[in-house]
Amino acid sequence: MFFGNMRMLGEKEVFGKVKGSVWTEGVALKKFSRLVGEVNADVAVIGAGMAGILTAYKLMKDGKNVVIVEANRVMSGQSEKTTAKITIQHGVIYNKLIEKVSKAEAMQYAKVNMEAVEEYESIVRKEEIDCDFIRCPSYLYARVHEGDEEATKADHETLIKEAEAAKQLGIKSELMTSINLPISVTGALRFDDQAQFHPMKFVKPLVDQLTIYEHSRVMELKEDRVVTEHGSVIAKDIVVACHYPFMIKKGFYFLRMHQERSYVLAVKNAGTVDGVYYGVDKNDISVRSCGEYLLLGGERHRTGENREGGAYERLRNIAKEWYPNCEEVRRWSAQDCMSLDSIPYIGRLLAGENNLYVATGFCRWGMTSSMVAAIIIRNHIMSDFNPYAEVFSPQRFNLKASVKNLAEDSMEAVTGLTKGIFAPNKCTHLGCELVYNPDEDVYECPCHGSRFDCHGEVLDGPAIRPATIKKDES
Ligand SMILES: Cc1cc2nc3c(=O)[nH]c(=O)nc-3n(C[C@H](O)[C@H](O)[C@H](O)COP(=O)(O)OP(=O)(O)OC[C@H]3O[C@@H](n4cnc5c(N)ncnc54)[C@H](O)[C@@H]3O)c2cc1C
Repeated sequence: MFFGNMRMLGEKEVFGKVKGSVWTEGVALKKFSRLVGEVNADVAVIGAGMAGILTAYKLMKDGKNVVIVEANRVMSGQSEKTTAKITIQHGVIYNKLIEKVSKAEAMQYAKVNMEAVEEYESIVRKEEIDCDFIRCPSYLYARVHEGDEEATKADHETLIKEAEAAKQLGIKSELMTSINLPISVTGALRFDDQAQFHPMKFVKPLVDQLTIYEHSRVMELKEDRVVTEHGSVIAKDIVVACHYPFMIKKGFYFLRMHQERSYVLAVKNAGTVDGVYYGVDKNDISVRSCGEYLLLGGERHRTGENREGGAYERLRNIAKEWYPNCEEVRRWSAQDCMSLDSIPYIGRLLAGENNLYVATGFCRWGMTSSMVAAIIIRNHIMSDFNPYAEVFSPQRFNLKASVKNLAEDSMEAVTGLTKGIFAPNKCTHLGCELVYNPDEDVYECPCHGSRFDCHGEVLDGPAIRPATIKKDES
């Protein structure tokens, strides 16, 4: 199959039926045993998602003895449910960073993300990975909101400002007046030479080279010891790459992040698109091709705030409106950790603890951010020059960019904790009320985003212990 101006390294069609992401079809990753007893390593990595795997892989290539400890199965977290666009165009980001952080830091952010895109291609070539990696443009589009001139104008202004910011930072970009989606837009900002791939096919040969323990949830960190239910890893350096850090007192991440969930449909009979698409408006839809399918993502909400359900149904309606002949093939959802200032927390988890690292807060863009984490944490551990460490430092506090989100997150936490006192179902992280999400038949915490199945088993952290679930029979 040929996609207009896309550059391809390898591609194969994917097939699927209904529930679960397209990436799980036909790719079997190696299985690993549970950690029992004690093992020693130079580096222990907690979590085998994209961030953990890339960080471990890079350190292993530098000669470190690395052990990954994974609560469930490799790539079973958010990375299995991504839409796998590899781009430095992170929605509307550069104007925000220039205005609320600084131009110099916005420049560093763009630069390291560009390095991340290059690094993906370099690994694909070096390891000769057939993972449908293709270079393609990425587009940020501003819709015409029928009957709402004000919203249309506001989105267009946001787009223009983002285009100006990109220009200031020297990002190769172009403003377009039309795009390859069946909607009216006031314009779109195109970044060339971005990429997309198949994440499971990509990690497969990396995983084969790594030492991993599955079904081994880390419950505690005790100095140089990573403690699971049945064993522990003793390591000089420890990397916390479990999406949302589970430790409460170390770093107080629960005060600095919330999680947002979004939904994806894979549809066929909708044609293909020539790149990856993302909207300016928070309700806009993300689009990319995946073999003969289109992946449409959207309907995002703060985790724990989907009491009424209907997210998939709304997404289906949009899919039908845009592509009347399309047919749903698969559906899935996943969530993102949102930092206070839109920059991930990557680096030393705590000031003064020089052997403990974290990679979290990827704000919806965890493909490049995972690679950025691998680059920065590798440099820390190998004691190499680390030009991007400061921008991503978990110890930073960008007041102007953070204050509004800090106030909102604190208010949510206070509300959730108060409701939790009387609620039938409580989160085992900090005791907030759990809210049923009918679209997924799970219980979610609006404070920090932990999720539990109907039997109380942990699906997503930061919680690490099962909850007692009383089903509402009304
Ligand atoms: C719908 C959707 C679409 C997206 N599309 C894109 C995109 O196109 N491009 C992009 O750049 N980003 C995208 N993202 C974001 C990206 O997918 C994520 O940011 C990224 O996958 C996160 O990787 P991770 O390794 O941090 O987390 P995960 O993949 O969740 O990995 C963390 C791992 O840690 C394990 N773990 C958790 N707790 C413990 C514990 N206590 N002990 C041991 N292990 C533990 C989990 O089981 C999991 O396997 C998307 C996100 C969503 C929700």
